[in-house]
Amino acid sequence: MAAKIALKYTLLALAATSAAAGPTTPKASTSKAAASSSAAAPVTTPTAAYPNNYPWKNQYPPLFDKTGAWAVPPIDSTQAKEWIALVNMSAVPNAPVIKWDKNGNPIDPYPAGQNPYCDWSLDGVCTRPGDVVVCPQKGVWGLTFDDGPTPFGSQLYDWMGTQNLKATLFYIGLQVAQNPQVAQKGCAAGHQIAIHTWSHHVLTSLTNEQIIVELKWTETIIKEVCGVTPKYFRPPQGDYDDRVRSIASQLGYTAILWDLDTNDWMFGSPGNTLTPAQVDGNFTKWIGEESNDTHGHICLEHELSQQSVDSAKQNLPKLAKAYNIMPVASCIGDAHPYKESDISFPVIGTDGKLTSTNTSTSASPSNATASATDSGAGPTSNPTVSAAGAAGASSSLVVSATTTPSAGSRTYLSETLFAIAVAMAVTMAL
Ligand SMILES: [Zn+2]
Repeated sequence: MAAKIALKYTLLALAATSAAAGPTTPKASTSKAAASSSAAAPVTTPTAAYPNNYPWKNQYPPLFDKTGAWAVPPIDSTQAKEWIALVNMSAVPNAPVIKWDKNGNPIDPYPAGQNPYCDWSLDGVCTRPGDVVVCPQKGVWGLTFDDGPTPFGSQLYDWMGTQNLKATLFYIGLQVAQNPQVAQKGCAAGHQIAIHTWSHHVLTSLTNEQIIVELKWTETIIKEVCGVTPKYFRPPQGDYDDRVRSIASQLGYTAILWDLDTNDWMFGSPGNTLTPAQVDGNFTKWIGEESNDTHGHICLEHELSQQSVDSAKQNLPKLAKAYNIMPVASCIGDAHPYKESDISFPVIGTDGKLTSTNTSTSASPSNATASATDSGAGPTSNPTVSAAGAAGASSSLVVSATTTPSAGSRTYLSETLFAIAVAMAVTMAL
């Protein structure tokens, strides 16, 4: 199964994406043992000083632990305690915290097939009603990219813009911390932004409290850079069970999994044997099978490497001839994938066409801005960012000054203007 292959997934490819962050191999290691076992992981001094001179309003947790791996946020801070208090722990199933071995495989505490907690990793890609796994409508393709924002993603967003493609982007909190301008670019382009946890540890390996802070810190940093609060998340590696389900549900999140996997995460990974031709072959196969489908799909792709981006550019134009490609929110009919109810995405109708629903506006965050929608499947109002945020350390890129907010509603930037500003900021920062 694809998910079993994905269990071996690491983020070593991220090395190339975070040069500005100091350590060159932040890893989505599943345990401290796994992280420390890799000779490739440098030991660094933990720091809360994030790169890019971004004018953070919130104080975020350290990027790295003492092994140099991405750090799970502490659970004893005042903020963490507030979030932990949001969850009724007595309602959380008492599923065990799963141990993972050094090779990144879960150790099943139950006899084979007898885990009662619907564990995606241990129980054969187990899902529950309410988990989003496919686009329901035949001929529809939920386009998703994980593990950003990365500089490769920046390039991908540019290209998707030329193709009028919109995707669901699952952002890692620590990637947003290191590449905030790329995140802003993704938001500004009208993609659906969703949570992919703070440090990309497999969630069943974490305690209830750690799961809570992983989700909430990511929500917080996405809100700061993009002005939106995602209602959807994707567990790293799809690793998910009833304990994680309960916690996520109590916090207001719905999981988006996938039913097709390009395996493009392998590109750039040590020992990778995947070739671009193999990924091309997967797409060719899926295109050929469409006529016999009974439902649509959600496909797992990544913005982790040049090869994964090249693969998307190579295959999506062909795919678009067989499938109607859109963000997951659009394909499942949720016009409001953010808590901000004034932001709406077009949703698919029974006729297969996307329909926009314009909704009333509400009070704007102090500096959230957005652009008017285009004809694609992006939101009808694209939340973006503060002028200061878009500009990073540069005071010359005060883009929101060009617009005039109207009382009681969001202010919408020209997407082109914003893209120019972000591109300049990214160029300067990376
Ligand atoms: Zn991931």
